[in-house]
Amino acid sequence: MNTATFSIQPLIGLEIHVQLATRTKMFCGCRLEFGAEPNSRVCPVCLGLPGALPVINKEAIRLAMKMGLALNCQVAEFTKWDRKSYYYPDLPKNYQISQYDLPLASNGWFEFEVGGKMKKVRIRRAHLEEDAGKNLHEHPEVTQVDLNRAGTPLLEVVTEPDLHSAEEACVFCTELQRLAAYLGISEGVMKKGQMRFEPNINVIIHDDGKEYVTPICEVKNLNSFRAVQGAVDYEINRQIETWQNDRSYTFEEQSKENRGWNDDRKETVFQRGKEEEHDYRYFPDPDLVPVVIDQTLLSSVKAEMPELPQARRARLVEECGLSARDALQIVDDRASADLFDAAVAAGASGKVLGKQFINFWAKHANNRECSIADLGVDAARMAELANMTADGKVNATAAAAISDKMLESSDRPSVIAKAGGLEQVQDTAAIEAMVDDAIAANPKAVETVRQRGKKWEKSLGFLQGQVMQKSKGSASPQVVRQILEKKLDVS
Ligand code: ZN
Ligand code: MN
Repeated sequence: MNTATFSIQPLIGLEIHVQLATRTKMFCGCRLEFGAEPNSRVCPVCLGLPGALPVINKEAIRLAMKMGLALNCQVAEFTKWDRKSYYYPDLPKNYQISQYDLPLASNGWFEFEVGGKMKKVRIRRAHLEEDAGKNLHEHPEVTQVDLNRAGTPLLEVVTEPDLHSAEEACVFCTELQRLAAYLGISEGVMKKGQMRFEPNINVIIHDDGKEYVTPICEVKNLNSFRAVQGAVDYEINRQIETWQNDRSYTFEEQSKENRGWNDDRKETVFQRGKEEEHDYRYFPDPDLVPVVIDQTLLSSVKAEMPELPQARRARLVEECGLSARDALQIVDDRASADLFDAAVAAGASGKVLGKQFINFWAKHANNRECSIADLGVDAARMAELANMTADGKVNATAAAAISDKMLESSDRPSVIAKAGGLEQVQDTAAIEAMVDDAIAANPKAVETVRQRGKKWEKSLGFLQGQVMQKSKGSASPQVVRQILEKKLDVS
């Protein structure tokens, strides 16, 4: 596309639905269980039978408050429930219980890193609602409905349109998933539909001193980061192209439309035109009492807040001297980050441990498709290996080899090193003997070094290599170098 004659700025806002990890549903006692026999986790309330009365799940309120606090929102002292009406086969009551004008949390912000820069996004609101059931299309001739999911507590987070690229949108979604897992409010497993994304996208175009704004397109129900990236990118390009062909393709003329994402063809498809709030006929749910959040509840939820990923990363950079990139990887999941902290508390050098987390612990975890915390290596053993490396008792190669063995046995790394002959030889007498052998076996190189001949430093390196080889990598390279320099009179 040729955009040389005009300038563009994409505006992207996100609506993100997160299923909360409560034991039971939002307004009834049915268990939340993914993959259970269809329609086996239902009751008169979530089936929408006449006369059944909903009861608020307090745990869902606490979890939602945590996300609100983590997103720097104001948590409402008073909120209520509203019915959002629409007619859909997977919605047995023909309305969804949601929060309309008084969301649980509002006016927040969230800051995260993207492309090496800090990015701040305003959070418009975060409110609680219930999920719908699921239509199943397993048989060609019928559509079936599974209502196990109906009534699952959902937290809907809505941002202001402060994101300006598919990458920014995608990274924000990733950060929100990590945050939810850190807070313990949701596993955020995409394959189970625990997180769904709906980006609102339009583009401001400046051309020839005039400003054009394309219609806002909401892409419904994306369930992976890749789909978010693809849909936003596609929409930005599509909207600009459409506007190029038809200058009336603007917000003023067409305002809003809903689109779907075709993951096979990697394109969005028109679903329906604008939908206004009055179409939903929101009104307060007469069956539910309002929610009052007092100071006692607020402070008890605040007391349960963990250190959040951002703060934790900054602390690791500051206290352990890790690079921002390494800190990002270590903080990725909370259990592994807790293990890291425990190993540092057990005396490990944070810097060396950080390297080992990246160099081999993360790789082991990757190979086993688990987190570092699930490798079965405790903080004390990790700390010991890090310290053996820091003290020069083992070199980096040996440390990696020892880590392999630590997965199979519960032996301490020092025991494994000894048994496998992986310790570095610090014993100078032994190294001296090997240096003498190398000097005797390589008279030409020795001569070059002694005479400071052409490239004598290279010859010195060669001799050092010979000794290292002889020691099968177990000699400390620094000690070898020192002895060589002394014997050849170059120090
Ligand atoms: Zn139920
Ligand atoms: Mn919603």
